Amino acid sequence: MSGLVLEKISRHFGGLKAVDGVSLSIPSGRITSLIGPNGAGKSTVVNLVCGLLRLSEGRVLLDGRDIGSAEAPEIARGGIARTFQTVRLVKDASVLDNVAAGFLGRRRTSLAAQLLALPAARAELRDERAQAAAIIARFGMSALAQAPAGSLSYGHQRRVEMMRALALAPRVLLLDEPVAGMNDGEIVDLGRIFRELADDGIAILLIEHNMRFVLSISDEVHVLDSGRLIASGSPGTVRRDPAVIKAYLGDDYA
Ligand code: ADP
Ligand code: MG
Repeated sequence: MSGLVLEKISRHFGGLKAVDGVSLSIPSGRITSLIGPNGAGKSTVVNLVCGLLRLSEGRVLLDGRDIGSAEAPEIARGGIARTFQTVRLVKDASVLDNVAAGFLGRRRTSLAAQLLALPAARAELRDERAQAAAIIARFGMSALAQAPAGSLSYGHQRRVEMMRALALAPRVLLLDEPVAGMNDGEIVDLGRIFRELADDGIAILLIEHNMRFVLSISDEVHVLDSGRLIASGSPGTVRRDPAVIKAYLGDDYA
């Protein structure tokens, strides 16, 4: 399968099994969601996949290749990009510069060539800025490209983070609570963009508490509780699952 496969992954912190034998597929071209109560282990799954945390057990396969022991920069270069639960931007730098910073992970010219501003390095820089501008246009933020990132609304800052992740031209995009704190209009816009990215062939893993959003946008939903998957399936199936209603959803979505 093209995309990401997690095979019985676990991560223990001392006696705590934050993630406990989780297996799931995150196929290319689809939006796969991971939901569950606070502390369920969702962010730990993301940190394990992108190499910020080491696996205690299990395997992570990208397009069939085991990347479970790779370091974070190597995994990023291999095509797995992520956003964080909190905004992490260079606030004084422009939107364009923040997005272009995402390219640093995949430069082809050497650092020496860049420092000497050799033609190949200059051409690469121009190319990167053009690509960054295209990403910014896709997110409808061209008018803000030169604005300092720190001057933007919270919703726009989160978009800048996503755009920076996309600068890596990832094959897998891990989104940790991307629409938290956004208004309904912003959420609808982002949902449309996520679907376009999936249609381009990106495998998307979405972690999100906004259930209306998750249920409307996901192709497949997995529910994590205390480190273990308690349900997997289509949004329609999962929202009616008694174990999911009990552990997480309550009766509102049944
Ligand atoms: P979620 O994102 O679903 O809210 P997390 O993955 O952040 O949950 O956390 C799962 C559990 O693992 C929690 O009990 C949390 O306290 C614990 N945990 C997460 N990261 C660490 C860490 N680096 N060291 C110790 N415990 C951690
Ligand atoms: Mg989390």
